[in-house]
Amino acid sequence: RIAYVNGRYVPHADASVHIEDRGFQFADGVYEVVTIVDGRLADADGHLTRLARSLKELSIPWPVKPATLRFVMGEMVRRNRARHALLYIQITRGVAPRDFKFPKNPAPTLVLTCRRTAFQPAATLEKGVSVITMPDIRWLRRDIKSTSLLPQVLGKQKAAEAGAFEGWMVDDQGFVTEGCSSNAWIVTTDGILVTRQPSNEILNGITRLSILDCARDLGIAFEERAFRVDEAYAAREAFISSASTFALPVTRIDGHTIGDGKPGALSLRLRQAYMDHIGSTDPV
Ligand code: PLP
Repeated sequence: RIAYVNGRYVPHADASVHIEDRGFQFADGVYEVVTIVDGRLADADGHLTRLARSLKELSIPWPVKPATLRFVMGEMVRRNRARHALLYIQITRGVAPRDFKFPKNPAPTLVLTCRRTAFQPAATLEKGVSVITMPDIRWLRRDIKSTSLLPQVLGKQKAAEAGAFEGWMVDDQGFVTEGCSSNAWIVTTDGILVTRQPSNEILNGITRLSILDCARDLGIAFEERAFRVDEAYAAREAFISSASTFALPVTRIDGHTIGDGKPGALSLRLRQAYMDHIGSTDPV
């Protein structure tokens, strides 16, 4: 396995950054996860566009030109002989003596790792996954894909302890914001596809955007709006989306069975459309 650290391809086991990296001390950094399916990077342009936005919002300079990063991404696929894998990209504000203020001459850190993945087993796709809800305790710039992920670490752990695949976070008004590492979707009893509108309150998923494009192409009616937990319990279908799960049907929320308890037809149709969009067949 090969990793990339600041201009060098190194064996994964030897890859490291300095202890005074601001990513380590302040979580002062951003990241992206790009899925590799059949040896191809899925939605790479979308992920690079969002990375550029995250960097800009935090005034972190590009460590290399975007085109160079795009090249390194391809090299990581090649050098790791990756077929089904997750490519992790992290940029921090770099190494500097510990001080909250930005360093004068920042040299941002760029790290890439590549890990083989099996995606969800076919049985998971046939049954759908379960979700539990929890309060959203995050900051108010969730539109930035920051490495500051403690609420999600706690949320995912809580979900795992409850035997659930994902946690859906809920705002003060009782509306679902998103999953700990995914966007949340329902299909209403009227057959309308619903997912929360982009704002500072959620991360605008690249998979989310592509699935909305698919819905548009297929002439599926959708609304970008917040939905309450109760509406989700009563929904005909539910699913999550992310780079690593694509569109993954949800069949239980807080123990409530969704629809007839099986993955929904529209969810599966959108999953298929997304696979076509990234030019791959479903690895499941
Ligand atoms: N929302 C959150 C909080 C996430 O962490 C993620 C991905 O990790 C997503 C949504 C889905 O985004 P994407 O489809 O770009 O993977």
